[in-house]
Amino acid sequence: MTIPSKLPNVGTTIFTVMSGLANQHGAINLSQGFPNFNPSERLQRLVFEHMQRGDNQYAPMPGVPLLRERIAEKMTRLYGQPLSPDTEITVTAGGTQAIFCAIAAFVGPGDEIILIEPCYDSYRPSVETVGGKVVAYPLSAPEYRIDWTAVGRLISPRTRMICINTPNNPTGTLLRESDMLALSNLLKNTDVLVLSDEVYEHLIFDGEPHASALRYPDLYARSLCIYSFGKTYHNTGWKTGYCIAPPELTREFRKVHQFNVFSGNHPMQAAFADFMADPSEYTGLPEFYQKKRDAFQQAMAGTRFRPVHCSGTYFQLYDYSAISNEPDLDFCKRLTIEFGVAAIPVSSFFSDRRDDKVIRFCFAKTEDLLEQAGERLRKV
Ligand code: GLN
Repeated sequence: MTIPSKLPNVGTTIFTVMSGLANQHGAINLSQGFPNFNPSERLQRLVFEHMQRGDNQYAPMPGVPLLRERIAEKMTRLYGQPLSPDTEITVTAGGTQAIFCAIAAFVGPGDEIILIEPCYDSYRPSVETVGGKVVAYPLSAPEYRIDWTAVGRLISPRTRMICINTPNNPTGTLLRESDMLALSNLLKNTDVLVLSDEVYEHLIFDGEPHASALRYPDLYARSLCIYSFGKTYHNTGWKTGYCIAPPELTREFRKVHQFNVFSGNHPMQAAFADFMADPSEYTGLPEFYQKKRDAFQQAMAGTRFRPVHCSGTYFQLYDYSAISNEPDLDFCKRLTIEFGVAAIPVSSFFSDRRDDKVIRFCFAKTEDLLEQAGERLRKV
């Protein structure tokens, strides 16, 4: 029997591979992006209370109503876009599921979707699963700057969607107002949709604002914006996020979402709704993670790794070309096995697997662990 594959070139995601290797060798795991500390005690208690109160069956398909109201309130306050909880907000089983549904709802066989690379490794397989064609626009290390005129040249009559991601995983760069206006301008008079992955919206440093697609009405009119509670409240394993899109786009998004997972998990949604009443739970995040970024950079100062500027996310790139010219995947594996620190090779975020000798470390860790990692990496 021949088993067909829709994804013949896809193996196991690099996040599973590197976390697996880290566990196998007892290495400090700075590869897959997740905190090594717990979410707030109060939030954990709220989940348990909702479980005891009976919120253990299916949540409503678009998400718990109070949670959608709280999201609308928050996002309107932060980004100025009036939002209807009923027709523009859908709670999902995490950012990755939201991204898949946004792509599956609009991209069909032969449709082109522009990916600005390096990008999160789920985008391409999601496009290919539904028969779409990726048109990649690779950025150059270490600046990873976007030339919007060059992006414009990639738009064809088959272009259905472009994916943007700010703050950017893995580069730590931000899109700024000028980028958003350039993109908005570029798409004027086209039917191209925007998938705006904003899961790291609160992880921005040095006092910079988040250039959400929600701030730009012309852009929002064609956008599906993706968010993640996991990044904001330190619980990536709770797999809860949401998608904000205008009513016409949300209608199509929900057609796929309802048959993909039906709904996200119920007690967590109910707890997030209560917890979101207090904005101080996320207003301190930029400072909280900036301290970790600085502590990690400090811990790495005596190593031969060269930092790439990081403006946001909880990822820090390092160039290792002064140490070795091994392929980045081999280097990451050796780092894990021989030196006890796991990282992610940035080639995994490129369609053509280009290797700029840059690797990604996650600094969402307690400062003692970051210091310990630095100590190990000073020996490399
Ligand atoms: N987004 C996280 C990262 O980039 C991990 C997501 C995952 O493991 N699928 O590390």
